[in-house]
Amino acid sequence: MSTEQQRIISRCDKWRSNLVHYLTRKPNRANIEKICHSVTYLLSWMENLSEYDQESYDRYLQNIKFYLNKASESIFNYFYTNCRNNSKKGVYNSARYVKSVGELIDHLYYVLWCSYYGENDSFIEEVYNTLLNDIARNLPPTSSLRGREGKRVGKKMWDILVYFEKLLDHDVPTWAIQKFQTKDLIKPKVKEDETFNIMSVLDEIELTDNRITDDLQYRQLRNNLLKSTEYGSKERRRALNYLLKQRCKCGAQLKLGTADVEYDRDGDRLILVTRALCEVCHSTYSIKRAVEKTKDEFEALDQLDEYLRDNYGISLVRRIRTTFQN
Ligand SMILES: [Zn+2]
Repeated sequence: MSTEQQRIISRCDKWRSNLVHYLTRKPNRANIEKICHSVTYLLSWMENLSEYDQESYDRYLQNIKFYLNKASESIFNYFYTNCRNNSKKGVYNSARYVKSVGELIDHLYYVLWCSYYGENDSFIEEVYNTLLNDIARNLPPTSSLRGREGKRVGKKMWDILVYFEKLLDHDVPTWAIQKFQTKDLIKPKVKEDETFNIMSVLDEIELTDNRITDDLQYRQLRNNLLKSTEYGSKERRRALNYLLKQRCKCGAQLKLGTADVEYDRDGDRLILVTRALCEVCHSTYSIKRAVEKTKDEFEALDQLDEYLRDNYGISLVRRIRTTFQN
C-alpha cells in the first residue's frame, strides 16, 4: 500500500473513531453537531479513497455502514423531536416551531448523505414521508411566514422537497410545491470538487490544533467558505462550459489551456477572463464575465484566512496554494 493511500486511510480512521465516539454519547445538540462534523469529513476522505483505490473504498464502506445509518437516525431523531416538542399545543406558526423546522432541514442533508452511503433507502423513504405528512403539512406557507428567517425556512422546505423528488424519483404533491414555492428559488446543493479540496486542507489545519475544531467563530467562517465555494465553483464551471460550446469563426470547436483563466477587477465587480484557442486556424479569443459568486467566495476565503492568521498564526491561503500545486 502506498504512503498516500495509508495517509487517506488514517484520516478515514480518525474521523470514523470520532464518529463512533460521539454516537455513544448523550444525543444533545453539541454531540449531534459533532456527529455531523465527523460524518462530513469521513465521507469526504472516503471520496478521496475511492479515487485512489476502489477496492479498499468498498471494503471500508462495508465496515462503516452500520455507523453511517446510526448517525443518520440520530441526527434525524434529534431535530425531529425538537420540532415535535415545539408544536405540542398544535401551534405551527410560532417562531420557535418555524426555527426548529429550519434546523431540521439544515441537517437533513447529513441524514440523506449518511443513508445514501449506508444504502438504507427505506429510511430515506421514511424521512421523506415524515417530512411531507407531518412537517410540510403543518408548516404555514412561505407567503404567510413572518420575517426573513421565517421566509427562508419556507424556501428551504421547497429546496428539500425538490431534492427528494430527484433522489427518490417521487413526485412531490402540487399542494406542497405551491405552498413553499417563491420567485427566487435556490437550487439544491451540489457537491463540487473544489469544496472537497478546501475541506481537506481545513481538515489538516484542524488536526494541528484541537482548539480550532471547537472554535465557534472559526466554524461559522468555515461554513461560509464551504458554502460559497460550492456556489463559486458552479458559477465558474458554467462559465467555462459556455465558452467551450462556442465555435471559432472558422467553424471549429475552441480549446482551453489550463493556465488560461485569470481574474480582473472592474470597480466593485470581479471579472473572470478566459482565453481560448482554435486549434485549426489558431485564432485566440478572450471572454470576460462578471462572477458574483466567485467574488463572495474570495471574500469568505479572505475572512477565514485573516481569522486563522490573527488567532492561530496560520496562513490558509498559503496552505491551499501549496496543496493545490503539488
Ligand atoms: Zn478557427
